[in-house]
Amino acid sequence: MPLIVQKFGGTSVADSEKILAAARKAVRAHLAGNQVVMVVSAMGKNTDMLVSLAAEISENPPAREMDMLLSTGEQVSVALMAMAIVSLGHKAVSLTGGQIGIKTDSSHTKARIQSISSERMQRLLDAGNIVIAAGFQGIDEDLNITTLGRGGSDTTAVALAAVLGADACEIYTDVDGVYTTDPRVLPEARRTSQVAYDEMLELASLGSGVMHSRSIEFAKKFGVPIHVRSSFSDIPGTMIVDQPESLNRAVSGAAVTKNEARVTIIGVSDRPGSSMEVFSRIASENITVDMIVQNIGDEGLADISFTVLKEDLPTTLDAVAETVEKIGAKGFNFDDRVAKISVVGLGMAHQTGVAHRMFRALADARINILMITTSEIKISVLVTHAQMQEALRIVHSVFELDSDPANDVPTPSPPADRTPDALDVVARLQGMEDLTIDDISLDESQARVSINDVPDTPGVAAHVFEEVAEAGVMVDMIVQSFGHDGMADMSFTIPKGDLDRCVEVATRLAEELNCGRVTNSPQIAKLSVSGIGMRSHTDVATRMFEALAAAGINVEMVNTSEVRVNVVVDGAQGEAALRALNDAFADTLR
Ligand code: ASP
Ligand code: MG
Repeated sequence: MPLIVQKFGGTSVADSEKILAAARKAVRAHLAGNQVVMVVSAMGKNTDMLVSLAAEISENPPAREMDMLLSTGEQVSVALMAMAIVSLGHKAVSLTGGQIGIKTDSSHTKARIQSISSERMQRLLDAGNIVIAAGFQGIDEDLNITTLGRGGSDTTAVALAAVLGADACEIYTDVDGVYTTDPRVLPEARRTSQVAYDEMLELASLGSGVMHSRSIEFAKKFGVPIHVRSSFSDIPGTMIVDQPESLNRAVSGAAVTKNEARVTIIGVSDRPGSSMEVFSRIASENITVDMIVQNIGDEGLADISFTVLKEDLPTTLDAVAETVEKIGAKGFNFDDRVAKISVVGLGMAHQTGVAHRMFRALADARINILMITTSEIKISVLVTHAQMQEALRIVHSVFELDSDPANDVPTPSPPADRTPDALDVVARLQGMEDLTIDDISLDESQARVSINDVPDTPGVAAHVFEEVAEAGVMVDMIVQSFGHDGMADMSFTIPKGDLDRCVEVATRLAEELNCGRVTNSPQIAKLSVSGIGMRSHTDVATRMFEALAAAGINVEMVNTSEVRVNVVVDGAQGEAALRALNDAFADTLR
């Protein structure tokens, strides 16, 4: 018999009427011949209310007692939901996290799942019950109640779907699917029929609040198809699976991160370990750093720029001030009136010209690009706060995100032959939220070209990458550092064989645009560490920097995404770097 997991978020169970409506959905699925597990969040803003109540009592409530308190929200919901199902004439049993056997570690308020037993749920399902599971909670070794972090019911739902080998995991929420961008920011945003796990992970990290990132990591790891849909309508919603909506589209979604701040450290000695010092100090504050760009320094001095969330700026600046002193850099500056515009798409990994289309569209609107970073499936640019809305609109329109793509990817039906072997899945659940690195690879096929002192005005990036594309050169990584004195540095990587042609183009452009020197490395080594949990385990980049610094290897370029961190080092050091990284991540390789 097919099994489905249905998760209802707080807004979907906010009052008794909504609870009854949710119960009817579950009953409908049951009558259609499915076994049904419901995962329920606390009613409405109940969790927030409990958090403020605790704050009224104590400034610093013990984390264990917070979990004891917060878990009650879900306990209320599951009991009422079971009553609702029974009142509709069906059998139902509610279970707390502990009763299901969701074992977690003991890090209260942000616990990670270690294992789940499916046996009791399966027995209840086989006896004809709808099982109603409390989201967001588990128990540790000593039977203390734990919670998985705010929004954690999504993670419970996907984890239960994984362990039960469910045919579908439906997430009922107050939006009717995943949009190409936030419809509250851009009315022309379109609901997509399908989005790939990796795209969703990128979009979630860019602030698309639809689902808890950890739940998507889970789904990807265990191949759980997720169906996001509205509790309040029968609109088909969005599938989150391994394939994107269209294989022909380069871009599937766009996002603006409004609350970014840029920090630049000036005059860092360009030797192994400098970046490590900076980033490990910041990581020790649990701050996630994005858009890391290090220019190739003149006179052995480099500038390192990166972005952090604005709320993390004060702590970051303290950390930076300390490190600047320690590593003897010249100084630092920052700007908190910037925003990051990103486009995401699995399709861009094998299409050319995606970046320059974006740069051209922004240039034509006279929008200046302050920084650029790219990864396999994401391009991010930094713009001023004043221009962010316009920039998002333009990018959304140039990639035609407002229109339906040709339907060239069939909606995957749930794998029919997936015999749920609960024991096997449970075995794989051991430490399933740990960081897993799938692959550490070395690519020695590329060269680097840099143009220094590029005028920091609209249209330059577009012009440069149009000309490079015109010459038939396929660009991989692009970084544009934050400019100083009205000038920025631009570096990009290309296939080795195209170096001469590309240097020729770059030299001509440098002359035409009044830039500084053109430099190149005919042989670089690009190292990629990819896996699952790269974002929620904030120390991946730091660990890479540390390992490379310890091996005396200087990092020339960096880019990071949800699923991969890439670094470029000198070509002669590729093998040594690969060894250093394999050692550093030995405990997490699967
Ligand atoms: N009730 C919890 C929260 O509000 C968990 C959830 O809703 O996913 O964070
Ligand atoms: Mg919620």
